[in-house]
Amino acid sequence: MDVPLIDLKAQYQNIKGEINRAMEAVLASGIYILGPEVAKLEEEMARYFGVKHAIGVNSGTDALFLAVKALGIKEGDEVIIPAFSFFATAEAVTLAGARAVFTDIRADTCNLNIKQLEEKITPRTRAIMPVHLYGQPADMDQIMYFAGKHKLKVIEDCAQSIGAEYKGKKTGALGDLGCLSFFPTKNLGGAGDGGMVLTDNEEYAGIIKNLRAHGSSIKYIHSEIGINSRLDEIQAAIIRVKLKFIQAWNEKRRKNANFYNAGLKGVVLPFAPDFVKHIYHQYTVRIENGKREAFQAYLKEQGIATAVHYPVPMHKQEAYRKLGYNVSMPESEKAAGEVCSLPNYPEMTEEMLQYVAVTVNNYKQ
Ligand SMILES: *Cc1c(COP(=O)(O)O)cnc(C)c1O
Repeated sequence: MDVPLIDLKAQYQNIKGEINRAMEAVLASGIYILGPEVAKLEEEMARYFGVKHAIGVNSGTDALFLAVKALGIKEGDEVIIPAFSFFATAEAVTLAGARAVFTDIRADTCNLNIKQLEEKITPRTRAIMPVHLYGQPADMDQIMYFAGKHKLKVIEDCAQSIGAEYKGKKTGALGDLGCLSFFPTKNLGGAGDGGMVLTDNEEYAGIIKNLRAHGSSIKYIHSEIGINSRLDEIQAAIIRVKLKFIQAWNEKRRKNANFYNAGLKGVVLPFAPDFVKHIYHQYTVRIENGKREAFQAYLKEQGIATAVHYPVPMHKQEAYRKLGYNVSMPESEKAAGEVCSLPNYPEMTEEMLQYVAVTVNNYKQ
């Protein structure tokens, strides 16, 4: 049996009629960028998250970048981020001209370790950017507490956590700004790039709306140097269709994860405390003692796809080495050598889940 890591073609087949109708309506309308579909998506997302403003942009990376810009963060300022995430988290900070200050992660959740947060804070620190990695909320109570104590802003990287909850509240609505990605493989993905910034703050929302369209609020009149980061109508129309399914899809991912959690042996299972709703955007286990590559090769032979999210922590990337970074983050480096994501997506059948579990359990180390 072949089990891919994710199956976007299967998802499309299940909702093909609705997706095609939505796309055709956009094509027939003659409005292709920042039109009524984007406006409706922004309204629906604001309602879904319980925030005042949702601003559609071109990608999750742009959402992070524009969130940093909205806070007026610039050269000389520092933003604290976890060292273990997809590269865009750090890149957005650096692109905005600020310094990305890496912090190590918790070994059990792979999220920012709040025990190291306070020692990273300097007079130049302006913001903390936690990542809800794999769909699991970071320690937001403590992060918001330190932010309040030191007068810092909080930007949540929710690229992997749409619908995840921390103590009953959705990630993305907990900090000052929340950033979403609609990259096709994310749990709410379009058919191309897309992203969104969430905020209750009217001033930030205004700045982001202005910057996403070349620093212009009135056509051909430019008040700032902005970028081109507009969301397409077709993407918005597709995401609006999928938004209706996100709750059910997330529940299926959680059900799959519970099945794995109950049955898998010989691997380190993901840990999630009771008070969070982990949506398992990735179901990521750990294979210790340098055995991960052999484990992956074994599963591949049996037709099961796996992936490493992520093989190199951000502070160890060449791009940051070249900028003079030379820090050590032991838990991030250890995680990079051990993490292994198994197939987990809503369209997985019972047979597929069984097959993955049995195959993992038959692995002889
Ligand atoms: C995917 C991702 C991003 C970037 O989103 P894009 O839409 O691909 O630009 C940022 N942060 C994290 C944690 C991600 O997983």
